[in-house]
Amino acid sequence: MASIDMKNIVKKYGDGFPAVNDVSLDIADGEFMILVGPSGCGKSTLLRMIVGLEDITSGDMVIGGKRVNDLAPRDRNLSMVFQNYALYPHMTVYENIAFPLRLSKTPDDEVRRRVTEASDVLELKEHLERKPANLSGGQRQRVAMGRAIVRQAEAFLFDEPLSNLDAKLRGQMRTEISRLQRRLGITTVYVTHDQTEAMTLGDRVCVLRKGKIQQVASPRELYEQPVNLFVAGFIGSPPMNFLPATPEGNRLKTPFGDVELDEKRAEAVAGHDLLLVGIRPEYFEDASLVDEAKRPLGSVFRARVDVTEWLGDSQYAYIPYEAPESIQSQMRELSKELDSEELRTQAIVSIDATSRIREGREAEFWLDSRKVHVFDPESGDNLT
Ligand code: ATP
Repeated sequence: MASIDMKNIVKKYGDGFPAVNDVSLDIADGEFMILVGPSGCGKSTLLRMIVGLEDITSGDMVIGGKRVNDLAPRDRNLSMVFQNYALYPHMTVYENIAFPLRLSKTPDDEVRRRVTEASDVLELKEHLERKPANLSGGQRQRVAMGRAIVRQAEAFLFDEPLSNLDAKLRGQMRTEISRLQRRLGITTVYVTHDQTEAMTLGDRVCVLRKGKIQQVASPRELYEQPVNLFVAGFIGSPPMNFLPATPEGNRLKTPFGDVELDEKRAEAVAGHDLLLVGIRPEYFEDASLVDEAKRPLGSVFRARVDVTEWLGDSQYAYIPYEAPESIQSQMRELSKELDSEELRTQAIVSIDATSRIREGREAEFWLDSRKVHVFDPESGDNLT
């Protein structure tokens, strides 16, 4: 096993904009690190530089304490699991798993021992004589991982391994990869654009945007303390609402009501004209269901509900609004980048399934204002 340390890594294809732009990231021995971001943010390029499939324009790639910039992929002792698993259709499961050992001319009895060990861990023992065509997607995935295990690689690298699977299988495989990684304790780097995978699999998540690291943190910290608008909007489903807000003393005026700010937040927003207040859908409750003791701890919003969606255990209410002209262009760019047109045209409120809030009517929502984030629309920074 090994740590992976990246120092000021840059990748330029031709003389264009760098695909990876000054990335420094230390991945600890045994850690499960997720690289996540929208299409084109550079996550696959970064992974390919770790494994050696892509030249590094500048910076240092250090694996297990050794600089590997000029080392061929086969000499890095890393194992990459691709989206299509890259299994050989004419070989049995046994031979597919054994393949890297055959390449390195490992003696037969050693091959048998390692393949048996790996197929035990992966629960593939009954399928060793089958061909890949006769396996389920999940089993194929495990064969691909088996191949990585027998090599006793220093790290596993995954490039969107689940994106070809249907939703149910994706969920199962996610749990399986997570369980296996914890059992084996092998340093793992996992690329995805799926934020559910990012939030559930990794010890830490590295959010990339246009080749640059935005934030590296535990899933919980990313969710609760996003450093900027981009991370806040990217993590969470349905996404965080961003409402235009103007500070007035220790309040923020928004289109639907005032948000009371605590001292820390009030101080952080002082001196700004126009801000964006970030409110996750679940920070709201149907005001009529909030008990008296809790009411003074939050703020109340009034708004006309356009559409409601009942989900069984909760429901969503959609509230249309228009951002002021002065921040339209920033909001347009953000919603385009996050691939979420709704972000600048409506707010989403998540409330209890028992709420009697109706479509087309005014409603009162209680907001836990202790949780809101306040962003500078220009820089995108989280001021709170
Ligand atoms: P996706 O999720 O769509 O795979 P990504 O985040 O993995 O995206 P990369 O594939 O790393 O992104 O690409 C980062 C940037 O580098 C993109 O702008 C892409 O067009 C560019 N790029 C990638 N490979 C090449 C290449 N071989 N030649 C030129 N440009 C490239």
